Amino acid sequence: MDLGLQEKVIIVTGGAKGIGEAISKLVAAEGGIAVIAGRSTADNEKTVNDIIAAGGRALAITAELGKVEDCKKVIAETVAKYGKIDGLVNNAGANDGVGLENGSPERFMQSLQNNLSHYYNLAHFALPYLKVTKGNIVNIGSKVASTGQGNTSGYAASKGAINALTREWAVEMLPYSIRINTVIPAEVWTPLYETWINSLPDPQEKLASITAKIPFEKRMTTSTEIANTTVFLLSPRSSHTTGQIVYVDGGYTHLDRSIS
Ligand code: NAP
Repeated sequence: MDLGLQEKVIIVTGGAKGIGEAISKLVAAEGGIAVIAGRSTADNEKTVNDIIAAGGRALAITAELGKVEDCKKVIAETVAKYGKIDGLVNNAGANDGVGLENGSPERFMQSLQNNLSHYYNLAHFALPYLKVTKGNIVNIGSKVASTGQGNTSGYAASKGAINALTREWAVEMLPYSIRINTVIPAEVWTPLYETWINSLPDPQEKLASITAKIPFEKRMTTSTEIANTTVFLLSPRSSHTTGQIVYVDGGYTHLDRSIS
């Protein structure tokens, strides 16, 4: 199936690693231009070089997305280089362990800044350009918004807000034919996931107990599987899909707990 993404300029936040890397590479493989915005210049450039080596097109923009001015810069540099924006994938985030008991008001607000505010800020600054292209936005959320996890209030609040904003923005953007959707991963092996599991007392045992509870094939979701759904939602092949929260999680969040 041709997804019709040739020459489409798609910003992918956190597009150098993990899920974002898989999305950037797939956008480029489909003939689009991946604009990778993230905090590490070296990581961004490595992924851009991989894409170029594979015959694709990509641009790296260094941005600490918790800062409003860096979000503005991402949009300005993209438009300066390509003159348009067709899509925004809000993906960057980190499960930063700011708990109710162990956190603080300051750390909670900082977590919202790192996990939530840039989803709004980038969408806000990109909007004039998305109106021109009738572009669209895909947010990457988390199952934590539905299930909780414990000791991660800032991250959970951010992901819950992202689900709410998916519906809110989908309604507000109807007059512009701009679609908004969210993809929800649960357990995906990425650098973020590896850091998290290694922070636990017995990582291997924990990993085995998690994968045993993933209903579909008792395995982690791959970054590529998240990317496939994300890029399909970005594409004109999803032209009548908006306001949707799509779980790509092997049934982890919703299927019957009694299944073995
Ligand atoms: P990852 O491997 O850590 O990759 C995320 C990338 O985004 C990294 O390059 C990271 O930079 C960058 N980044 C994060 N916050 C940033 C910020 N505020 N400013 C600039 N760059 C930032 O993470 P991932 O596992 O692919 O996760 C991607 C998304 O999926 C996140 O929104 C996460 O909540 C969601 N998710 C993942 C899972 C999972 O199982 N992996 C499950 C549910 C939801 P650094 O490496 O320098 O920090």
